[in-house]
This record gives sequence, C-alpha cells and structure tokens, in this order.
Amino acid sequence: QAGRLLHVSNLYFNEPQLRLAEQLVRDSFADQVFFCNSGAEANEAAIKLARKWAKRHRGESSHEILVTEGSFHGRTMAALSATGQPKLQKGFEPLLPGFRHVPYDDLEAMTAAIGPETIAILVEPLQGEGGVRVPHPGYLPGLRRLCTERNILLILDEVQTGIGRTGRLFAYEHEGAAPDIMTLAKGLGGGLPIGAMLATRRVADEFTPGSHASTFGGNPLVCAAALATLEVIHQEGLLPLCHEMGDYLMGKLSVLRSRRSAIIDVRGKGLLVGIELLTAGRPVMEACQAEGLLLNVTAERVLRLVPPLIVTRHEIDEAVAIIDRVLSVVES
Ligand code: PLP
Repeated sequence: QAGRLLHVSNLYFNEPQLRLAEQLVRDSFADQVFFCNSGAEANEAAIKLARKWAKRHRGESSHEILVTEGSFHGRTMAALSATGQPKLQKGFEPLLPGFRHVPYDDLEAMTAAIGPETIAILVEPLQGEGGVRVPHPGYLPGLRRLCTERNILLILDEVQTGIGRTGRLFAYEHEGAAPDIMTLAKGLGGGLPIGAMLATRRVADEFTPGSHASTFGGNPLVCAAALATLEVIHQEGLLPLCHEMGDYLMGKLSVLRSRRSAIIDVRGKGLLVGIELLTAGRPVMEACQAEGLLLNVTAERVLRLVPPLIVTRHEIDEAVAIIDRVLSVVES
C-alpha cells in the first residue's frame, strides 16, 4: 500500500478505508465508522457525537457525560477532563465542563448519578490504566439496560481492551453489552497510528459532512495495516489463542500468588493481566526490565502485563520465572 498510495485528501474516499470500515461493521454492533489517529482523538469524536446527538434528542442544554473514577481516556483536553485521575489533570485546569465522576463497577452509584442533564455514560469495559480493574459480571449489561431505559448513550472506550486483547475481538462481547458508540486505537493498526469511533446509525446520523474531520484519519496506509491486522487475527485464530494463553498465564500467576506474600491479587481477562502488590510496583518493574521482561505499573501497586497476542507458553514460563525471582528479592 505504501508503494501504491500513501495519502490522499479526505475529500475523497479511499479503498482500504472503505474495506476497513466494512470489516469493522461486520465484526461489531456498529453501522458506521469514523477514522482518526489515536485513542484520545477517538474519544474526542465520541464526546462530540454524543453532544450533537443530545442536542436533538435530549434538549439544547443537556450535555453531562457520566464517567468513572480511576478511568483513563487520553491526554487531549476533553479526553483528559473525562479521565478519572486527578494526578493526570493537575496543572492543566480549567478542565472542560460536562463530566461527572462516579465510582467504577458500582451500578447503584451510576443509577443514582443520572440526572436530567445526563446524555451518556462513558466507561472502559475493564479499567487498564486504573489498575487492571475487571468489573463484576452484570455491570456492563446493567449499564446497557440503564442507558436504554433512560434514553442516554452508552459509550465504551475499547482503546485498550479492543482488537482481541481480552480474548474476544471487543470486550463488550463477553457479556453481550453492545454500546451505542465505541472507540478503538492501540492494537487496531498493528503498530501504525490509527483510531476509530464506531456507532449505530441512529447516533452516527448526527454527524453530517463537515461536522468532524481529520486530515490523516483513515489514510490508505494505516487502513491497509489495520485490515491486515484483522485478517491475521481472524485467519490465524488469535482470539482462541489469546483466551488459552490468558488462562495459562493466570494459572501460573495464581500459583505464584499462593507462594509469594508480596502478591495481593491477580486479575484480568485474556492477555490483559494485573498483579496487585503489597508495595510499590516501580522497583519490581525496573528489576524485571533489567532481566529482559518489559511490563508496566498502573495505579502505583499493580504490575500490568500486556504481552503480544502471539505469546507462547515458553515465553510465559520465562516471564513468570523472572517475576518470581524479582519478588523473592523484594520479600527477603
Ligand atoms: N483510552 C484508553 C482506555 C487507553 O488505555 C488509552 C491509552 O492508554 C487511551 C484512551 C488514549 O489512547 P492514545 O494514547 O492513543 O491517545
């Protein structure tokens, strides 16, 4: 694709873009797709679309979006304002108005928070940056029901959980809680920068030509890369593999947890796994890195493992052995 056509003005459609949109629509709840360049931008688009939808369907002044504590939605101004982590917002005030933070994984709190101004709920199906928090079964279907009953939109940020990361192409599939709007990025381009916002027709119709745009969004190169990514995921059976390797990793870590007092909890879905420690995660992360294992720390004490979807049992064994060695030093 790079040799054929690298970029074309977004005044024109291009073939890989149309094929990718068709593929995403086939693979998901959505009827239409908007392409951009990152996760934050996809969330900006979702927030704008929800506001535009609400102007017509909920009245001129309604604009509040309920978001959750501990969430992460990106670094641009609206996405940062939606994010539920004050430490990331500090120094960048004033934040954008129109977001209210509610505890995560608490259906009652969300129900109580809905007011006449509320137009949407924006959540991650599983909080990644917030410490790999997996909500209780029934939370997402509960949010879906709530949104339908109150005629507000459910927006799922699947920037981290989407494209096979949890063992299904999209995490909402685990419990069949399809949103009205979904955002994607990260894994979608297989390493090239692309973001996407997917929506049902009844919502997407609120964006008409000129409502929203991006110069590089959906350019032929990144769309060809995303199509190739989806093709590999489907043709090489990466979803069942992710499920299987996720189970294997969780099994190994559960055994480790029973032996290592430094581990409080092990949780996750598919190949998005968190190890909650008794103490700060950073020294453990650095020691693992020195041994050749790259992982991350979220929420101060939670090691986050996000291995490639093609990870092997042998590599998982090696990784767990490194974590074991490092923790043995921490504990001594
Ligand atoms: N939303 C979630 C859930 C994320 O995890 C991230 C990035 O970590 C983003 C949004 C922002 O994506 P990007 O860094 O591509 O802007």
